[in-house]
Parts: sequence; C-alpha cells; structure tokens
Amino acid sequence: MTLDEQVLLHLRTSFGFDSFRPGQREALHSLLDGRDTLVVMPTGAGKSLIFQLAALQLPGLTLVISPLIALMKDQVDGLTGRGIPATFINSALPPAEQTARLARLARGAFRIVYIAPERLRSIDFLGALKNRPISLLAVDEAHCISEWGHDFRPDYLNIARWRGSLPPHPPLTIALTATATPQVQKDILRLLGLADDAVSIVTGFNRPNLSLNVCYTGGERGKLGALKELAGSRQDGAVIVYTGTRRDAEAVAEFAGEVLQRPAEFYHAGLPAEERTRIQNDFITGKSNFIAATNAFGMGIDRADVRQVIHYALPGSLEAYYQEAGRAGRDGLPARTALLYDPKDRALQEHFVRQSDLGTEDLLALRQALPAGKEFWTTLDDLSRLSELQSVQIKVGLSMLERAGALEHLGDEGLRLMYRRGAWNPERIDE
Ligand code: ADP
Ligand code: MG
Repeated sequence: MTLDEQVLLHLRTSFGFDSFRPGQREALHSLLDGRDTLVVMPTGAGKSLIFQLAALQLPGLTLVISPLIALMKDQVDGLTGRGIPATFINSALPPAEQTARLARLARGAFRIVYIAPERLRSIDFLGALKNRPISLLAVDEAHCISEWGHDFRPDYLNIARWRGSLPPHPPLTIALTATATPQVQKDILRLLGLADDAVSIVTGFNRPNLSLNVCYTGGERGKLGALKELAGSRQDGAVIVYTGTRRDAEAVAEFAGEVLQRPAEFYHAGLPAEERTRIQNDFITGKSNFIAATNAFGMGIDRADVRQVIHYALPGSLEAYYQEAGRAGRDGLPARTALLYDPKDRALQEHFVRQSDLGTEDLLALRQALPAGKEFWTTLDDLSRLSELQSVQIKVGLSMLERAGALEHLGDEGLRLMYRRGAWNPERIDE
C-alpha cells in the first residue's frame, strides 16, 4: 500500500470522511516528507485533521499547543471516540487529574496530547515528556506568536526555545492559523524557528457562502432600527452582534430581549470568569441563540450554524473584521454579515490615507502600483510589492476582503470608510 493509500484509508476508517478538503492532502504530504509546514486555511476548513491524521502515521507522540482550553475537551472526545488514544492536560483539570494524566503520558499511553502554551513552563510536564519522543509538534492558532496578529500570547514565544532544546533535534513542526498576513506568516516561521525549507500552504481566505453587507444608519436609533430589520424575525441558527463597548453589548441584549422578543445574552470582559464560561457554553451548545458581545467574545467560538454576524460598531481592524464576520456560516450554508455604520462615526474619521501615517513617497509608490480607477486597494500581489508602506495590516486586510468577495458587497463607500480605519486606535474602547 502506498503512503497515499494508507492515509486515505485512515481518513475513511478513523475519521469517516471520503475525501480531503483543499490543502489537507498537500499539508499532510509535506509533513510526511519530514518538512516543517505552515498552514493558513480559513476557519472551518479542517486544519485539525491534518495533524490528527499525521499523528496516526508517525511513531511517537503528537503534541498540540493551543490557547483554546475550552475546545480541547471536544477535540479529545472526538479522537477517543474514534479509538485514538488522546488527552489534554490543562489548568481546567483538578490537580490530581493532571498528575494522573502526566503519569500516563510518561508511560506512553497517548498518541496525541493537547496543552496550552504556558504548560511548557511546568517542570512536572517537561519531566513527564522526558522519555517520550515527540514525532510532531502542532502549534495551533499560530498567529498568537506575532505581535502583528490580533491575539498575541507572550507564552507562544517560549515555544521555539523549548523546541530547540529537544534532543536529538527539534521535532517536525506544523503551525496552523486561519488569519495570517504575510507579515504574520513571516513572524510565525521565524519566531517558531522553523526549518529554512519549511513549506507554506496558504489556501486563501475566500468564504463564498458569506454575504458581506454594509448598512448605513443614523445614530443609536438608526442602528437599533437596522438591528430590528436584520435580526428581528426569528430564524434558525444563531446571531452574534459585535459592539464597540461593554455598555452597548448590554444595551443591545436588552433591546433584543424587550423589543425583538428574542432571548439574548451579553458578553464582555467585565463579567466574572464563570459567567463568561457559562454564556459561551450555552451559545456553543445551542442553548442560547442571540448574543451581543464585545470583541472579548473571540477565538474558539466554534458554533457552525451562526447565520448572522452584525457589527454594531466598526471593528478594530480589518483583520478583526475578517475574524469576527468569519464566525458566520462555518457549516458552509449561506450566512450574512452586516456592518452598521452611522455617517456621524464617519465624520469623526477625517483621516484619509493622505493624512495618515503614509509618507509622500509611499503614496506615490502606491499610486503608481495601483491600477487606474482603483485608488486604495488592489490584489495581494500588488500589495506585497509595497511592503514598506506602514499600514501593511490594513492593506492586507483589504485584500483579504477582496478575496472574500467583499469588494462588491461593501461597495466603494464602505471600503473607503474601513480603509480610513487605519488612523484609528486599533484597541476597542474598553477592552
Ligand atoms: P479549522 O481548525 O480549520 O477551523 P476544524 O479542524 O475544526 O477546522 O474542522 C472543521 C470541521 O470540518 C470539523 O467538523 C471537521 O470534522 C470537518 N472536516 C475536516 N476535514 C474534513 C474532510 N476532509 N471532509 C469532511 N469534513 C471534514
Ligand atoms: Mg482549528
């Protein structure tokens, strides 16, 4: 049996899938060739399967690093349900259970182990790993290593040092993320210390089932009116409304409950941790279907049937927009996103790109490089030639939107508005 046949057999027998999704086979082959691999595939594309399937082909342990403690149990349950010995070790477990799992890890009881990055600081954990050769290191949500990303986690920076110290040489490594601008991709390769011949597999960012819309609204009342129109009638699946402030999250939830007669919850970083966990779990399990939240309602919102994501205020950056809007329609069925904006918000943003942090030379270069008639955006390729420009993040964000088909939907006005976001404070008001 060829390797390809073997892998396909595992895909069918262990995971019950008939065929690979775009990028999966390439990534798997790259790993099985022994090459470090960076995978950039959209949310819901099936990145986990790559390292899970590779784990079954490799002799030793596959260690998965992820910041999403809340999702580890589900992934591990899925694996053990398929007869694959897997576990997670994280701070959500009682200490006695952690100790028990470490002992089993040391005995070689697992093929796949999930940890959060801070676990690499635990002497007990490193001790348990000592005689367990790591065949594959999978660094999930790898954009967390970059300060350019939108979810920087300092603990990710320790991974490279630890990885480099493993005898006899650093283990084969795969880094995975759904959003990485070229800058962030470079950071991931460099800061993880991946081999020079590492393979990057970028399948693109398109989400064809999403329709992206911008609704012009006037003031608070206009926004609530738009909200009523968009989310007033009950539909299957879930709605997320992203607000710019905690206060708005609470107000929108109240409006939804009282005016729209839709039971709604709000979520923001000001709530106690247990309350946040409860709200998040209720949402993921389908107990609640309408949530108004700040951007604290973030990574790991893994619910497939979100039918609408509404931005009640402009998101902090285009990357954030892509992430947040991208939580809609993970099941591949049609879903809608809407950005509500008030012309008054816009009046506040007088900083066109001309007045922003771009120098005159940059602007000239930008003008020359861009096709006539397209003033401020272009393809990713064109943009990469302008990598010296300061607002790289915005430009790449724009091109991501372009790839996602957003240009048509957002229209000229919407894009100009978002482009101007470059001069805005990237942090949300109160997070
Ligand atoms: P990502 O990490 O890229 O956001 P996941 O790994 O969580 O995505 O996978 C999303 C969903 O796609 C999961 O339910 C997974 O079982 C499913 N999936 C992955 N690969 C395939 C495949 N080849 N065929 C069908 N479904 C798949
Ligand atoms: Mg994932």
